[in-house]
Amino acid sequence: MNLISPIRKFYYLKRLQRNQWKGLEELRELQNKKLRKIIKFAYENIPFYHDRFREVGVKPQDIKSKRDLKKLPILTKKEIKENFEDIVNPELDLSEARVVPTSGSTGTPLKVVYDQRGDDFSKAVNLRSHIENGLNFYKKWAIMGDARTVPPQTFFQKFGIFRIQYINLFDDVEKQVQDLKKIQPDVFTGYPSQIELIAEYLNDNNDELNIETVFTTAELLDNISRSKISKNFGSDVIDLFGCIEVNRTAWECEEHMGYHMDIDSVAIEFTKNNKEVSPGEWGDIIYTTLFNYGMPLIRYDVGDRGVPSDEACKCGRGLPLMDKVLGRKGDFIKLKNGKQLSPIPFHLAVKHTKGIEEAKIIQKKKDLIIVKIIGNENYSKKTNSNIRNKVKEICGKNVDVRVHEVDEIRKDSSGKIRMVKSEISET
Ligand SMILES: [Zn+2]
Repeated sequence: MNLISPIRKFYYLKRLQRNQWKGLEELRELQNKKLRKIIKFAYENIPFYHDRFREVGVKPQDIKSKRDLKKLPILTKKEIKENFEDIVNPELDLSEARVVPTSGSTGTPLKVVYDQRGDDFSKAVNLRSHIENGLNFYKKWAIMGDARTVPPQTFFQKFGIFRIQYINLFDDVEKQVQDLKKIQPDVFTGYPSQIELIAEYLNDNNDELNIETVFTTAELLDNISRSKISKNFGSDVIDLFGCIEVNRTAWECEEHMGYHMDIDSVAIEFTKNNKEVSPGEWGDIIYTTLFNYGMPLIRYDVGDRGVPSDEACKCGRGLPLMDKVLGRKGDFIKLKNGKQLSPIPFHLAVKHTKGIEEAKIIQKKKDLIIVKIIGNENYSKKTNSNIRNKVKEICGKNVDVRVHEVDEIRKDSSGKIRMVKSEISET
């Protein structure tokens, strides 16, 4: 049995837990130290980066801190796909690495490789976000996911530590509630759209589940959905942020002042036209991983947008805050005047309108938006005009908004719901 991995994970976790209370300056220095090390490694060992650095005339010693990263070009999903072999560390034994395919919900599936240390480290980062919000090794943890990709039991789980049980994302709500009742988890993690359906089911049936903490992840969580989940589960809702390529990158604490960014694991830039945005402005999220020497990602444009904050959190953790998660840049509504609108106000306006069971907003042209809806028992013809008006209020009267009633709204193959989708490719 491989004992190294769990021991290493535990060691990383303890170090990460100490890190979070360090001051911001000390954390930035730690980040820069890790950054210089991985940049040097990538230049010397990874053919793709060696060539890329030379092309733009950058030597490893030119990258001293996160601020210097802008000297390097952005790495796109397409480039990773096309240069996969050259981005993976040539010394890495792939049979001992973890190869993770992304879901491809954005149309460009790609693979990412974690070396063993990197994999353990990223899992420890993920555990930190849960443990800091009430998960403990003896607690029962239910995760809602795709039953087809349930991982095998880990060393810890065989001994009753972090006892994870899976709820199938593709089961209907009634079955999911039955399973949750059987498991009686202390902690529950899943996509907010499905957890919200469970919350509604509990409400309609005057039923309850005693779960201490609900973690939401991988989809946009708006405030109305958050309070609905919190009320019907009787628990705090903690939203987590990240992606398959990097794993956890930011998370809320109990103060809910924003998302603590894991800057001891990843360098996060927020950019617009390759310039760092100011706190309070939205930017494209660009990641540089500091832990995965099997396949470093340097200035990777993950396709998400967020707003950085310069506020310190009340909890006292030094890990800086991202104020808001705004969604995938492909899902931003693009207007004729060049303005781009986050999906969040559309969520709030449409999903929570009286009479709506489910909805999907599709931008067909810069001046045409189609809203597909499934009504519930409160639905009336007035619902359509309500929605039309609300959407027009957000994107302006020059945009034609048409509301269609449909029988079914499909999820992505990953089970995620993208409620707002723009078919305008320009970003
Ligand atoms: Zn905090």
